[in-house]
Order: sequence, then C-alpha cells, then structure tokens
Amino acid sequence: MVGQTRIVDKLRELARNLWWVWQPNVIALFRELDPTLWREVDHNPVEFLKRLPPEQLERRSAEMALDSRIDYAFRRQAEYLKDTKSWGAINASILRARPVAYFSMEFGLHESLPIYSGGLGVLAGDHLKSSSDLGIPLIGIGILYAQGYFRQSLDKDGWQQESYLNSDLDLLPIEAVTGPDGQPLKISVESASGVLHARIWRVEVGRTTLLLLDSNLPENSESDRALTARLYGGDARVRIRQELLLGVGGVRALKALGITPAVLHLNEGHSAFATLELIRETMEYTGLPFGEVMHDVANMTVFTTHTPVAAGHDRFPAGLVEENLGKVREGLHLSFDDFMGLGRVNTHDHNELFCMTVLALKLSRHANGVSSLHGVVSRRMWKPLFPGVAEENIPIGHITNGVHVETWVAPQMTLLLDRHMGVGWSVRQRYPETWEGIDTVDDAELWETQQVLKARLINFVRSRLVAQARRRGEPESAQRQAMEALDLNALTIGFARRFATYKRAGLVLQDAERLGEMIEAAGRPIQFVFAGKAHPEDRFGKELIQGIARITRQGKFAGKIVFVEDYDMNVARSLVQGVDVWLNNPRRPQEASGTSGQKAVLNGALNFSVLDGWWAEGYDGTNGFAIGSGWTHAEPSIQDRRDYESLIETLANQVVPLYYDRDTTGLPRGWIARQKNAFRTMAWRFNADRMVMDYAQRCYLAAAGGLSSSMPHN
Ligand SMILES: *Cc1c(COP(=O)(O)O)cnc(C)c1O
Repeated sequence: MVGQTRIVDKLRELARNLWWVWQPNVIALFRELDPTLWREVDHNPVEFLKRLPPEQLERRSAEMALDSRIDYAFRRQAEYLKDTKSWGAINASILRARPVAYFSMEFGLHESLPIYSGGLGVLAGDHLKSSSDLGIPLIGIGILYAQGYFRQSLDKDGWQQESYLNSDLDLLPIEAVTGPDGQPLKISVESASGVLHARIWRVEVGRTTLLLLDSNLPENSESDRALTARLYGGDARVRIRQELLLGVGGVRALKALGITPAVLHLNEGHSAFATLELIRETMEYTGLPFGEVMHDVANMTVFTTHTPVAAGHDRFPAGLVEENLGKVREGLHLSFDDFMGLGRVNTHDHNELFCMTVLALKLSRHANGVSSLHGVVSRRMWKPLFPGVAEENIPIGHITNGVHVETWVAPQMTLLLDRHMGVGWSVRQRYPETWEGIDTVDDAELWETQQVLKARLINFVRSRLVAQARRRGEPESAQRQAMEALDLNALTIGFARRFATYKRAGLVLQDAERLGEMIEAAGRPIQFVFAGKAHPEDRFGKELIQGIARITRQGKFAGKIVFVEDYDMNVARSLVQGVDVWLNNPRRPQEASGTSGQKAVLNGALNFSVLDGWWAEGYDGTNGFAIGSGWTHAEPSIQDRRDYESLIETLANQVVPLYYDRDTTGLPRGWIARQKNAFRTMAWRFNADRMVMDYAQRCYLAAAGGLSSSMPHN
C-alpha cells in the first residue's frame, strides 16, 4: 500500500493538475471508471469526480482492478512535479528565482477549460505544457472568461447559431488565489471610468502555473463585472478594458503574489500594456526617469506577433486610450502626446490610432513572427517604424510555431512510436535522430494503426451527426443516414479551422460538379470532414459555413461531405488523428504559421496545403503535397482561381492516385513512404519543445541576463 491516501483523493489530485491532459494512461483511467459519464462531462475530471459518489468510485475501481494503476499514476505525477534534472533546471537556472511571465489573451489547454477560441490560444496552451516538460520556470497570465467563446450549432438553413453558457466555476480545474489572511487575493486598476477590480485564479499545468484574472466581483460596476464574460465578444471599449486588465492587472497580480519576473513574453499585442505598468512600478520604486526604465523593460520583453494582415492589429482611438490608461500615463509622467506616440508609427501624427503592436514593438528588444515567411512579411509590414533601416535588418526575427506532441499524438500512435523509437522518446523529440526510428516501422503496422484511428474518427463523426440531426428535429431517416456517414475505405480529407475569409474554407467545393465526379469516381472515392466556427459578427464566414452545410445535404454528397459542429480541441484531436489528408488552403501569405497541420504530421496524416506559414518550411517534395508553388497575386480573385486549379489538379493527379496505388497485399506503399518521410523530416522540428527551447535560448536567457541596475533585484 502506498501511504494512507484513498483512491478518491488520489484521483482528485490527478484531476487538479492539468498534467493528466497529456497522459493517455490517466485519461484511460477516468474513461474506464465510467465511459458514459466521462463523455457526458466533456472529459472534465473535476465534474466527473463531483458526479460520482466516493463509495461508487471506490467500488468501481476495485471491480475494474484499477487501484494499482491509480497508485502508479499518482506516483508518476508526484515524480514529474519534483523532477530536478530537466533541461531547464540545467540550462535555464537563471530563471528559477525570477521566471518568465507569459501573457496571452487566450489559453487552449483542454476542451473542459473553455478560455480559448483557436490557434493563438492552443499555441499558448502548448507553450505552457512544453515549458513544464522542459522545466523552464514560466508563469502564464490570462483571463478567466465565465462563458468562454461561444458554442456553435447550425439551424435548419445551415446558419450558425451561437450559445453562451456560464461555466460553473466549481467544475473548472481552478483554485482561488488567497492572501496571507486566507481571503481571495484581489487587484485593482484605476481609470477615468472607475476602478476595475479582479480576483485571481490559479491553474496548475504540470510544473507551470497559469494565473487567470476574473472581474466578476460585486464591487465592480455592472459593465466591469461582465468584462470577463466573453472572449472576443465585445466592442472596442470592452476590448481595451480587457487588455487593460490583462496587461496592467496581470503585472499587479504578479506583484501581489510576490513574483518578480525576469522576462515579459507578450503572446500577441493584446497584453502590451504590461510593459507600461512594469515601467510605472519600477519608476515608483527607483525614482528613475521614464527613458531609462523604458530601456530596461524593453530589454527584458519578448514580443511574438501573429498577424500578417495590417487590419488585424488592435487599434484604439485616443479618447478610449486616455479614458482607460490615463492613470497609468500619469504614473509614467508622460504628456498625452508622448504617451499616444508610444502606439503610433509616426509619433506626432495626431490622426493615427494607438496600435498595440506598435507599442509592443517599441517596448521589446526581442520581437518575432511565427514562421520564416511570416518574419519576412512582418519586417515588410513594420518597415515604417524603423526609418533608414534596410528591410532585412529590421529587428523582427522568427521562431516557427510547434505543437505539444503528447497532447496531439493519438494513444495508439504513441504505442507504435514507443515500440520503434524507444520508451522515453518524447523527451528526445526535438532531435532528428529520435525520429529515424520511424523507418523501422513495418508498413502494414503503420497502415493498421491509421485504419484504427480512422475508424474511431468515423464513429465520432457519426455520433455527432446523429446528435446534430436530432437537435434540429430532423426525421428518423436523416438520423439513420447519419449513422452510415463516411466510409472506412475512402480517402478522407479533413478541413477544420476558424472560418476567417483568408482561409477560404469553400475553395475545394467551388465547382460542385467537378467535385461530384471525383467523389464518385469508381474505386477511388474521396470524402470530406469540415468543422470550424465563424466569428459571431462575421457574416461572410457564416455564409461560407452555410454554403458547406447546403452541400452536405445534397443527395450525392450526403455522408460524403460532412460538417461537424462546435469545433474545439476535442473535435480537432479526433480529426487530426483520424484523417488521411489535412487540407489547408489559405490565401498566401496570410497564414502566419498554422499549427493544425503539425498535429496531423504526428498522426500520419499527409498535409495538402498552400505553401504558406509553417508548410512553406516543412514541405520538401516528399513529405506531403503542395498547392501552388508559393505564388501570390495582387488581385485576390486571380490568386484564388490559380490556387483552386492547382488544388484540384494535384488532388486528381497526385493525392488520389498515390492513395489508391496498392500492392498485392493491399498496401499503398508510396503513400506509406510519404507518411514516414513526414514523421522523419518534420516531427522533430514542428513540436513545442523545439519552439520553447528556441525561445529560451534566443530570447529568454538574453532578456533575463540583460537586466541592468534600475530593475529591482531580490
Ligand atoms: C490547433 C487548433 C487550431 C489552429 O489551427 P490552424 O491550423 O492554425 O488553423 C485552431 N483551433 C483548434 C481547436 C485547434 O486545436
């Protein structure tokens, strides 16, 4: 027996720390305890344990002979949490006393903590997880949205409906941060439109902590109470106030907790006010002037920009800025004009709005885009900010995004990789040699594994389609038809992402007749699974979804082109793990990086994508398929037409033939060779361990080491 801890307490301990999210063995424990309930609670172990009475839990655990596995998981968690031999302990020990403070408007850690909308949040979540695995001292700062992003359903006309559900805080893996008096710790931020109060929640993500600010407090005005209700749901006033809370409130939360960061990492410009608050605080503490302190804060600040489109950057009118940041400005002893100048390209242009990206660029010595191509685009975009500097010398580099491998690789694929790359391969995931083991995998074994994953995906899609049909009140016959959607033997293409215009979700469906011929081609069928949300205000995005929904209902496409509602991390996992091909056709160069295709690589799906974002670096001619050859055109309609032609051409002449070219044993040898090439050439590069190590080595250590005398040392 291990200690006196009861089974139920061990399970609670496992549920309390999001470490379980990337432990397939722990997930299996929860599922085996009660598969139906596990699905019903949306894979939320906190709710799961609340709904199962302890006696019943103990009984189930004994019946299923799970006790020793629960013991084992509990011990493994404890070992993980106190590991002192991590990469970070050795290489980033300078950060131990003063960690990295990582700010992000959204964090995608798991579907049961709905405080993310898409790629930016999932990237931030993966960053925390890899920082934990690597042992890099880092603390996340974000916002607890009571309703998160919206839940999506489609009505009978295929029109997107949004619903907002209040999360029950008792069912989230969060804990109130309390002060020495045992009372909830609170921070406040003064502004011309009143004092904004917030409390702080803590989420444990392995060895990493995430702090979440929450303004739903009785001492706030009604509008401030609602400030943290929704992610990306408000107007400019809500938005700037959320950013005030995240940036200024975030720095105050750190201070309230006695944490002095050595590095500020701004994941996108939303949190750039953090730099101003740190300057203000330091000026107050040291009495030094703005210019000097600004220099020091910039030295310790790392900024990651994610937006390759000029219109996509947050910009606020001067009035809103003064209303919310006026008090901070006074603390900085800056005039209104000088303060506004921090957010303007042309400091003295009174017509220019205050841009968060400009502020972040002026206040950081380390700035980067999220792929090589995006680095180029960003340097070009921000050239006016660096007059007289040649484009290639503009101080914006790039660190290409990566994904947290253990979160995204399917358990069945993990077992296969364990057998061929050696147990413990994941701690060596960033080295090319690790992945050479893929060549020792038997073709049939890889194929079988993928068939199993595809069968799981098909089951998942069918049950979702049935539930969707039922919710819309469609006849029994439609529900029966949904039960038969998709064919295990057909080439399955996945497309799932936000329905932003530049992502061109409908591109492949543009010519339904042509597509119809391909889908039905004798012996070579193809099928599509679509998913994704449009922003509630984005009419055009909703029309795109409606267009797809209508196609899914045409007789010849029924069950062959399907739309799964309510795209989230759960849907994403099922899709990237189960499809044969991952399609991505953004209008180049507007996809800063994209990460879903990297998840597909880890599960043996082949990318079929425009040479944009990470794929422009990843594709080598042998490890997937390219749409186009990296062209762009000033006239979008021409670019769209060319890309469409290339897409259909490549699909018909390369993708489909290779998939259906079988040997006498029924295996597509050429296809499998490409899957192995994909693992071997890309998995070591496009993972979050590599990404976080790049940040540590190129930015964090320099930023932490560059601290000068004006910063308070402990
Ligand atoms: C990975 C992921 C994304 C990002 O995908 P892109 O390729 O950047 O579009 C978005 N949403 C969810 C739920 C994800 O898991």
